[in-house]
Amino acid sequence: MNANTGRHHVVVVGAGFGGLQLISSLRGAGVKITLIDQRNHHLFQPLLYQVATTSLATSEIAWPVRHLLRRRKDVTTLLATATGVDKAAKTVQLADGGSVPYDTLVIATGARHAYFGHDEWEPFAPGLKTIEDATAIRRRILLAFERAERETDPVRRSALLTFVVIGGGPTGVELAGTIAELARDTLKGEFRNIDPAGARIVLVEAADRVLANFRPELSAYAGRALERLGVELMFGHPVTAVDADGVTVDGVHLAARTVLWAAGVAASPAAEWLGAEADRAGRVVVEPDLTVGGEPDIFVIGDTAHVERPEGGLVPGVAPAAKQQGRHVAEIIRARCAGTNAARPFRYKNQGDLATIGKRAAVVDFGWIRLKGWPAWWLWGIAHIYFLIGLRYRLAVALSWLWIYASGQRSARLITQGGGDGGTG
Ligand SMILES: Cc1cc2nc3c(=O)[nH]c(=O)nc-3n(C[C@H](O)[C@H](O)[C@H](O)COP(=O)(O)OP(=O)(O)OC[C@H]3O[C@@H](n4cnc5c(N)ncnc54)[C@H](O)[C@@H]3O)c2cc1C
Repeated sequence: MNANTGRHHVVVVGAGFGGLQLISSLRGAGVKITLIDQRNHHLFQPLLYQVATTSLATSEIAWPVRHLLRRRKDVTTLLATATGVDKAAKTVQLADGGSVPYDTLVIATGARHAYFGHDEWEPFAPGLKTIEDATAIRRRILLAFERAERETDPVRRSALLTFVVIGGGPTGVELAGTIAELARDTLKGEFRNIDPAGARIVLVEAADRVLANFRPELSAYAGRALERLGVELMFGHPVTAVDADGVTVDGVHLAARTVLWAAGVAASPAAEWLGAEADRAGRVVVEPDLTVGGEPDIFVIGDTAHVERPEGGLVPGVAPAAKQQGRHVAEIIRARCAGTNAARPFRYKNQGDLATIGKRAAVVDFGWIRLKGWPAWWLWGIAHIYFLIGLRYRLAVALSWLWIYASGQRSARLITQGGGDGGTG
């Protein structure tokens, strides 16, 4: 109990999809909530690639958490980085030396990209997880064209105009498709020494198809749609080296000055904080009710949790799964506060798989219906607008997309962080 209020104190670490849904589902539960996040904004990660590829501005997909929760007097928001948990004292440790006591702790700290033991690749092949990642990638892409415009050596120019995306999952497919459109449509006619449409966009995937989690016919369609946009597909071989000059695939070196990583994720270090069992991706292995072994007051949800499905396989690291887990834990907390035992297993409901390829094609698999092409694209667009927070942002994003759809023009093309003269980055 909180000493000041006498109310049960729930501490939530992480204002992502899981943490915010949990808080929303605890509305009116009569508990005191403290939300800790190292960033002041909630980020709509599914549209992050659109910031990286100049389609949307940062403020269209990220919103201040404090503002989102302004009407929730039961919630205190703290901008702080959690670094550990003292289970005996029931406190969360913070990077600045402070600590926050809890009655119930929910860890929802998400994941970051991982390089399969090759962290030295990161400076040459940045991944996409935060707003900073997205603006840094946008800068790299735009600077490559700027530098190519000034480059007279044909070999160096060709490397500048070669873009390699590693990983053929939804993020890799979305990045590659949009970079192709940027080069072919958006930048058309704006340069004098280069033709941006001649840029080479290569998608490298170790499996034998893109979107390996989708049904083969939808994967095949996505592959064809990418090729129609001019993306070269390289299947069946993992990347074995990445450096400032490009990538090596199957023993062949591909000269490219822009390489992007969309191939793997690792969970936040919550397992270390808790001294809990973790899987190979660092996810905390949780009990069926999402508590952590032997600690009924600690829950781990979302991308940080390794949750096994009764029918086999793992709950995927997607936004709907994190939200469903947030809702589940809220129900347990409510029941406990009401004096009933609600320890029941979490059940994941797959709401479907969606991925888009450029501004005219997508694939959608809801199980009961499968779509591809432009109807899927419209459905994808409507679904994403629906899940954005706030009317203003929905309208802004819808307007941006309609504009891009009609004109091919992407307006979020600022080169920021370190100047735009091509001297750094
Ligand atoms: C580029 C990209 C595209 C994606 N596309 C899709 C998609 O199309 N559809 C889909 O369903 N899913 C998609 N996902 C996955 C989806 O975004 C995640 O599954 C979802 O965000 C997980 O929610 P979460 O609450 O577990 O973590 P997150 O939403 O990642 O939130 C974690 C929060 O914890 C905070 N945090 C982390 N560490 C600390 C700390 N030490 N102290 C304090 N705060 C901390 C972070 O700042 C963040 O706010 C995508 C992910 C990425 C990266």
